[in-house]
Amino acid sequence: MCGIVGYIGNGNVYDILIKGLHRLEYRGYDSAGIALVNPNGRLNVYKTKGKVENLEAFCQDKDLEACAGIAHTRWATHGEPSDCNAHPHFSEDRNLALVHNGTIENYKVLKDALSQHGCTFHSETDTEVLVQLIEYIKTKNSCSLVDAVREALKQVVGAYAIAVVEKDNPDQIVAARMSSPLVVGIGQNEFFLASDATPFVEYTKEAVYIKDGEVAIIERGKPLKVVSLENKESKVDVKTLEMSISQLEKGGYPHFMLKEIFEQPHTLHDCIRGRVVDGGHRVMVNGVNDNKDKFKECKRIIIVACGTSWHAALLGKYLIQDMCRIPVEVEYASEFRYSNPVITKDDIVIAISQSGETADTLAAIKIARGMGAFVYGISNVVGSSIPRETMSGTYIHVGPEIGVASTKAFTGQVMVLTMLALSIANLRGTMTPEQIEELGSHILQIPDKVEQVLKLNNRIERLSLIYTYARNFLYLGRGYSYPVALEGALKLKEISYIHAEGYPAAEMKHGPIALIDAEMPSVIIAPNDHLYEKIVSNVQQVKARGGNIIAIVTEGDTVIKNIADHVLEVPEMPECLTPIITSVPLQLLSYYIAINKGKNVDMPRNLAKSVTVE
Ligand code: GLU
Repeated sequence: MCGIVGYIGNGNVYDILIKGLHRLEYRGYDSAGIALVNPNGRLNVYKTKGKVENLEAFCQDKDLEACAGIAHTRWATHGEPSDCNAHPHFSEDRNLALVHNGTIENYKVLKDALSQHGCTFHSETDTEVLVQLIEYIKTKNSCSLVDAVREALKQVVGAYAIAVVEKDNPDQIVAARMSSPLVVGIGQNEFFLASDATPFVEYTKEAVYIKDGEVAIIERGKPLKVVSLENKESKVDVKTLEMSISQLEKGGYPHFMLKEIFEQPHTLHDCIRGRVVDGGHRVMVNGVNDNKDKFKECKRIIIVACGTSWHAALLGKYLIQDMCRIPVEVEYASEFRYSNPVITKDDIVIAISQSGETADTLAAIKIARGMGAFVYGISNVVGSSIPRETMSGTYIHVGPEIGVASTKAFTGQVMVLTMLALSIANLRGTMTPEQIEELGSHILQIPDKVEQVLKLNNRIERLSLIYTYARNFLYLGRGYSYPVALEGALKLKEISYIHAEGYPAAEMKHGPIALIDAEMPSVIIAPNDHLYEKIVSNVQQVKARGGNIIAIVTEGDTVIKNIADHVLEVPEMPECLTPIITSVPLQLLSYYIAINKGKNVDMPRNLAKSVTVE
């Protein structure tokens, strides 16, 4: 993962880079570092273990004068989080400094070869090999930095977004990408460079997304130039950003996670807008009508995703099978890519990733495409890799998600999958227009229903106090509520570090029931659906073993209300739409438990938001 920022221009280089790092801190926070190129021939590198604020403290008494610079916030893959493994890394002669996002698979071979040529290494990272190799080639061939970068990258196997600065050439930053994101912002006589556009959206809306295999030459006073590793010039395709600065700030909330939970009525409204029209009579998601034959004739759908997106994918399976009667398989992208999958041209592969940059999901896309499947992408970040690598797809349109634990992106993904299932059902005639209209009209009410659920906030805050010190949790659900249970358990694990397991409620009898005692609370998702009677039995089974129960039920519930220790009532919804409604109280519950424990909910330990490494 890691976040990269670069700047060249007349602004305050240090301030711009630090502010940019804060915006990218969701990508990793093991260490932070900065390289400042000074017009008087100095290249200063400052770096420290820990968050960006540590770097700021470290830099207080340092020489910060600069006309260009690069910076990095790390999520360690090679070598522990430490000062010396922090980026930027210097070359042997300290003439170059480099930051990197990704992993270099053949770094050991390259490192051994460079050591034989007299290079000494100061870190355990794979990254240091890159800067040493570039310098080695530059010196050996007496060539420019750009040519040395191109030649070096031809020898590299792996994933990278890099930025390099040179002491003797303070007016230039060279950057390149392969499978890790990189975008250049073009301002008035200034350039920005970053892993995503958030560090520069307040300065410019003009962005150029660098593609795999491209090298960007960013030079003061000259237009941006992009070349291939073979030095073939590419067209510079300038896109206009739609993001606004207020979307990147906390807006009065103490944490991004809480802000994002509370934004859901609004984000779901944006997600639905223009896709469910005429009072619900027409439901249409981008890419379905343009590829009618594919969606009409496909024999199977495979959904690939990771983490929270995988839970949304599992709901996608229930939705598409129910509504479209197409067999659906759900795969972890990381398993799919190495599983020698059987894919045919009659398959549709749907890839889901909030960031659109998840490395395993991108690899799965390439495999599926290579085997002839039609690949459809669902992501949140406009201009990210997934929309570029897939044949068709759509955005969830929930705005930037900064909290590392996904909330509004999950409900947005589920919403899009619901509308996608309805669009396909319409095309294939597996639902009547009346059935579609009925569900469509309910979808239009979802933002208001979520608003209603958010009124449970104070109750959930109080409830959380009772369970803050539980060491284990069980989350149970059946049918559409089973993936919700998985997602609820994941949220709790991610931010409170409490062990939690999500289980299909009926499977509990086959093992986890042995764990139940008065110390282990169960969160049971039990809306009024066709499995309600069944889950009532599961609730009884937990109670009979002395377990404490928090149940999410439909308003007006009378049965579970009398058995469970606590009930949280959510508004009535058709069964297939309940996951969006029932997942919101679980987001709040994990948020408050983590807050009670004093955890940093926006930056949980060891995690990073967008997983752009394997
Ligand atoms: N492999 C590099 C390191 O460990 C970069 C890691 C990353 O991009 O997550 O420092």
